[in-house]
Amino acid sequence: MILLNPGPVCLSEEVRKALTSPDICHREPEFADLQRRVRSALLGIYELDPQVWTAVLLSGSGTAAVEAMLGTLVARGGKILIVTNGVYGERMCEMAEILRIPFVAPRHGWNDELDADEVARHLASDEQISHVAVVHHETTTGRLNDLAAVAAQCRRRRIGLLVDAVSSFGAEPIGFDAGGITACAASANKCLHGASGAAFVVVRRQALESETPARRSLYLDLANHCRHQDQLSTAFTPPIQILYALDRALAECREQGGRAARRERYLALAGRVRRGLVALGVEPVLSSEESSVVLSAFRVPDRLDYGQLHAHLKGNGFIIYAGQGALGRKVFRISTMGEITMADIDRLLEAFAQVLTPAVS
Ligand SMILES: *Cc1c(COP(=O)(O)O)cnc(C)c1O
Repeated sequence: MILLNPGPVCLSEEVRKALTSPDICHREPEFADLQRRVRSALLGIYELDPQVWTAVLLSGSGTAAVEAMLGTLVARGGKILIVTNGVYGERMCEMAEILRIPFVAPRHGWNDELDADEVARHLASDEQISHVAVVHHETTTGRLNDLAAVAAQCRRRRIGLLVDAVSSFGAEPIGFDAGGITACAASANKCLHGASGAAFVVVRRQALESETPARRSLYLDLANHCRHQDQLSTAFTPPIQILYALDRALAECREQGGRAARRERYLALAGRVRRGLVALGVEPVLSSEESSVVLSAFRVPDRLDYGQLHAHLKGNGFIIYAGQGALGRKVFRISTMGEITMADIDRLLEAFAQVLTPAVS
């Protein structure tokens, strides 16, 4: 089955094999080596200086990393401006509510681009705002938000920027060097092609060390995890097999030419999907300029029902993904993350053609 949903992704044979690596104890040097390798490789993807940045590993899916990032890095008395143009921005609002972090969320529609001027107006008029939180790639619609524009605003006003980069880290450029970004949350099982169950936050050491991080959770306390991991230990039982797989997946990414090559590969696969579907009369939700290379959303053609489309494609070995929330069954999404080849895309387009081209009687 070829998974075209935005994570978990199809694993390579080598990554799958790594899941059955020998049993080890997380209090032994073998685990310390594995953990150190993975943390260092995560920084390596964006060539980040380990003096300035650190990667803190967590058990859980991407949401755990986003929640740990918000809950730890926004100090007591802080306030977040959350950019919401999709499900994942709205999820951060829900987290802020539960964590009792004051926030404002300027309204954006789900198809809207991020309004950097509106963000600037809020920052200028509300001095309590200490952080901005934004989703880099809003997987709801496939939109790649203009992170650089928001980072520039944050840098100018010395406000922290917390990024949900769960579905972009490892493929899309992230301007770590330009300043502005405080932390990015992501997971093993999207653009990094690992198995699901491990997540991480790449964060400026200074933000963890000097700004007296808040403790709003025992388990999702980034500072605590970081302290233990820096001492080559772990705060709690880590997902050992998943980290073996991530270690292998990160090595594969390097062997394949690193992040830039991965982006090129997604771009080629996504371009083929888009051109093929447009030729069959399917309408993309966003232009390719607005979309990430990771995922695109398309409108379900009027004469088709999402359930039928999904079932037909599943019968041919492909899993597509429905829209979320209000976009529900009017939209379907295709991600090109994971072990997917051009030949898979060609077979996918054939399967689409069967269901979209009326049978000749
Ligand atoms: C997948 C994803 C998440 C995390 O979802 P999980 O179900 O916890 O893996 C968060 N943000 C974005 C933008 C995502 O695409």
